[in-house]
Amino acid sequence: MKDVQTYLGEIKKQIKEISVEDLKKKVDKKEDVLLIDVREKEETDGGIIPGAKTIPRGFLELKIENLESRRDRQIVINCAGGNRSALAARSLNEMGYKNVSSLKGGYAAWQHAGFLIEQKKTLSTEKLARYARHISMPEVGEEGQMKLLAAKVLLIGAGGLGSPAGLYLAAAGVGTLGIIDNDVVDKSNLQRQILHDESWEGRPKVESAVHRLRGINSDITAVPHQMRLDRTNVRDIFSQYDIIVNGCDNFSTRYLVNDACFFLKKPLVDGSIFRFEGQVTVFDPASGGPCYRCLYPLPPPPDMAPSCQEAGVFGVLPGIIGSLQAVEVIKLIINQGEPLVGKLLLYDALKQKFRELKIRRDQACPLCGDKPTVTDLIDYEWFCSTANAHR
Ligand SMILES: [Zn+2]
Repeated sequence: MKDVQTYLGEIKKQIKEISVEDLKKKVDKKEDVLLIDVREKEETDGGIIPGAKTIPRGFLELKIENLESRRDRQIVINCAGGNRSALAARSLNEMGYKNVSSLKGGYAAWQHAGFLIEQKKTLSTEKLARYARHISMPEVGEEGQMKLLAAKVLLIGAGGLGSPAGLYLAAAGVGTLGIIDNDVVDKSNLQRQILHDESWEGRPKVESAVHRLRGINSDITAVPHQMRLDRTNVRDIFSQYDIIVNGCDNFSTRYLVNDACFFLKKPLVDGSIFRFEGQVTVFDPASGGPCYRCLYPLPPPPDMAPSCQEAGVFGVLPGIIGSLQAVEVIKLIINQGEPLVGKLLLYDALKQKFRELKIRRDQACPLCGDKPTVTDLIDYEWFCSTANAHR
């Protein structure tokens, strides 16, 4: 039988300890040290050592591999006074982490030495409850949820694609959602544009959309932009947002949106649908990927583009493609996974099949190529095409 002091004394002999002064030196020298604070949330809410990751002691072994799988990484663990961190260090040693130290005297000693602390930004209890299913996943966590709440996303079109994208992004807690549209709700929209319902027939789509999005999540700000985009207003609007989601229904806007995103270096999450087929990609030339003009350098002449009314669209299809766009937006915001940059995802509803094509930046692209000829925004004549109608 051992009392707790004897037991802790033995543990501390088996592990490495580091003083707050030595840790401060490492931090100042910008050494690659992973700091882990194993105190409980109520304790870390009061402040942490700058840059420390917080994992309560009870979850450390379960979560450490998601945070760091390399067993030779230099890790320093702290708690309030240096006991829980000593036990934690031994546990990590047993899991094969070779370069782990426990901070002697813990956070109290750090504070006592007068070193800088960081006030950890945290979510309210209400938000923690609301986004609990996100927060419990290490890929999102409280940090990722805070990124979502701080993000500003613009939806172009409150139609078939904008509907599911808007609904899911609002539910996910994307803090600012702008919606551009100039149309009113028509009965024929209701077959697929699930942002709107019968009671909004004849009224502006942006108003219906904003009403619905605010109803889903009063945490977020939904901003209506009732207007048609053109070269005179596109920069002003886009510069207020981090990510642009394309659900527009005509060629002229597609080129305008692509070009504006390129000039302003905003990622463009693009989707399009036609009958039973849809596609999704992320145009982000700033990260090395292609733009829309790399695939389609110039719009076809207006007389080659059939009328908007001719083509049909399967009602569920925009639900799938718009949801995939929402997935890409969230991945970009929380910086997880592989975005569809340089990849075109194709979906065929009749065959129930996905295919992926590699797409590359074209050095001869008139916009993002080596010798660009499109150097300013252009308003193309307003026209439709079957391939891009019926969003
Ligand atoms: Zn290009």
